[in-house]
Amino acid sequence: MNVALPLIYNLDFEQLTAQLKAWGQPAYRAIQVWEGLYKQLWDRAEDFSNIPKDLREKLAASHSFSNLDKQDTQFSTDGQTQKVLFMLPNGNAIETVLMRYAERRTLCISTQAGCAMGCVFCATGQMGFKSNLSSGEIVEQVLFFSRLLKQDEDRVTNVVLMGMGEPFHNYDASLAAVERLSHPKGFNLGARRFTISTVGLIPAIKRFTAERRQTGLAISLHATNDELRSSMLPVNDRYPIVDLIQACHEYVEKSGRRITFEWALIKDVNDSREQAVDLAELLKGLNCHVNIIPLNPTKGFAGARSTRERVTEFRDILHAEGISCTVRVRRGIDIQAGCGQLAESHTLAAKPA
Ligand code: SAH
Ligand code: SF4
Repeated sequence: MNVALPLIYNLDFEQLTAQLKAWGQPAYRAIQVWEGLYKQLWDRAEDFSNIPKDLREKLAASHSFSNLDKQDTQFSTDGQTQKVLFMLPNGNAIETVLMRYAERRTLCISTQAGCAMGCVFCATGQMGFKSNLSSGEIVEQVLFFSRLLKQDEDRVTNVVLMGMGEPFHNYDASLAAVERLSHPKGFNLGARRFTISTVGLIPAIKRFTAERRQTGLAISLHATNDELRSSMLPVNDRYPIVDLIQACHEYVEKSGRRITFEWALIKDVNDSREQAVDLAELLKGLNCHVNIIPLNPTKGFAGARSTRERVTEFRDILHAEGISCTVRVRRGIDIQAGCGQLAESHTLAAKPA
């Protein structure tokens, strides 16, 4: 790995085409290299058996084929969830999680090292912001796991931008990564197979709406009143609930798509009957789905997970009020791979410099 070189996954198809053209290559080379990267999943220039040797050498000398240095892999006890810790060239760490379901292979990817949003219950938020990932580094997480799955003739079926970081705080790179991976001549995972989760950055939601993106949108709501939401999600001071819900209505109207809300259920904080009723009231008339996530434990937050009875009751009230909702199956919490649990692992800190 030569990290001094630009990462090849940072190039979109047009940029790759322009680069090859500048090298005097015939037009069809771009598609050959693109297919090598995104269909064959080759990660070394010498693998590109579909192009001449001199071009392979040129690619090797000019571009890096990996910025993600794998440090550690952990499997949940049931073996169905796998978390990988990568080090970036700048020394920061990120984590990526693969969840295997009966039919789906869902990848939870990071868009930033750390996060600037400071949500109190989130391990990534507790770290603070470290750095943005480039689009290619976001893409490479998907390619890494796709290569693993390919060994079993399997593939990634869904991608959620719900790992470390706030995707809308790194908007261009996050959306460029989705575009690159949904390119029909390459990786070809449709934009609808991706879901972006945001803490509620309204200008970015409006931009996303205006761009008429096909990618799914999820909003981390967690409270129906501003005082409580601000105490957990500091960003709520700037983007209060009434404006947020308004932006969600605009999105649903313009896109014709359903929107998802996430609700981390915290014992005696946001799990009462009244709050379930308030939530149903707030979301009335909005084509939406609520994901209830019983709080995952993190070091820096004293709050506890709601009891099983409360979780069921909360869900039942939403259902009774006509709100579609599901309780998210808790995946990988035994390896700190659950929602909001991703943070620079101790493994990395323990490694010699
Ligand atoms: N920054 C984005 C996406 C990453 S967080 C966002 O906030 O939406 C992914 C989801 O995990 C969010 O809904 C977030 O609120 C939730 N989350 C964070 N910490 C959690 C925790 N400790 N337990 C359960 N869910 C948590
Ligand atoms: Fe950032 Fe999302 Fe964690 Fe909030 S919940 S700190 S926005 S990663």
